[in-house]
Amino acid sequence: MKKPFFALLLLTFAASHSLVAADAKSGRFTPGGKWKPGDMARPRPPVVTPPGWGSNEKPAAPPSDAIVLFDGTSLAKWKRDLKKGEPPAEDAAKWKVENGYFEIVPRTGGIRTRDKFTGDYQWHIEWATPSEVKGNSQGRGNSGVFIGGLPEVQVLDSYDNDTYPDGQASALYSQHPPYVNASRPPGQWQTYDIIVERAKLDEKGQVTQKARVTVLHNGIVSHHARELETRAIEGDLALQDHGNPVRFRNIWLRKLNNDESANTPPPAPKK
Ligand code: MG
Repeated sequence: MKKPFFALLLLTFAASHSLVAADAKSGRFTPGGKWKPGDMARPRPPVVTPPGWGSNEKPAAPPSDAIVLFDGTSLAKWKRDLKKGEPPAEDAAKWKVENGYFEIVPRTGGIRTRDKFTGDYQWHIEWATPSEVKGNSQGRGNSGVFIGGLPEVQVLDSYDNDTYPDGQASALYSQHPPYVNASRPPGQWQTYDIIVERAKLDEKGQVTQKARVTVLHNGIVSHHARELETRAIEGDLALQDHGNPVRFRNIWLRKLNNDESANTPPPAPKK
C-alpha cells in the first residue's frame, strides 16, 4: 500500500473518533468567541468530589471544594449579634451544639458568620423544626437564612401549617412564595441549596445584570433565577432567632466556577 492511503486511513479513523471533534476545524466558535466546538486545547474544569449520600440521621459529607461553616462540632466560625452597649469581645454564639447539630437558644440573638464572601456561591444549609409541634402559622419552627444583601429565605414548619404564602418555608420573605411546598414533617432534617449570582456592574457602576437567586428545598426547585434589586457583591450568612428552638447542621458553601480562565491546562496527550 502507498503512504497517502495510510495517511487517509489515519485521518478517517481520527475524524470518526472523539479525539478530533468534527467542528474543531470549522469556522464556528462556542459562546465567548475564544474556543471552537470540541477543542481539546480548552482548559479543563476542576475535578470535585461530590457529596456522599446522607440520611435523616447523618448528613452527607460536603463536596471536596466546600468552605465548611459548621462541621457538627463548633460555632467558632460564627458570632452573635450584639445588643447595644455589649462589648465586642462577648460576641461568641450562645446557641447549643450537640450531636452534630446546633440548636437555637431562644432570645440569645441571631448569629452570623465571622467571614464575608465575595462573589457567586452555592450555599448549603440543613435545618429541622422541633418534633414537638407548638404554635401555628409564623409561630411554629420559625427561623430564617439571610445571605448578605438578599431577602430572608424563610425557615418555618410549613408541614400542615398554613400561613401567608410569602412567609412559608422557602419563601423569599415578603417577596415571593416558593413554587411549591416541599416541606418534610416536623423533626425531620430538610435541606436548602441556594445559588446566588451577584449583580454585575460596569465601570460606571451601572448594573449590567441583576443579582439572581435559585433555591432548592429538599432537592426541589422552589425559586429559579429570581432577579433581585440588591447591588451587594459580598455578604455573610446570618441565621434568625425567632424564639423557636430550630436546629441546623452541615452548613457549607462553594464558589461557582463561572470564570473559565481559572481552569487547568489540558493533560499531555497519552502516547
Ligand atoms: Mg423567619
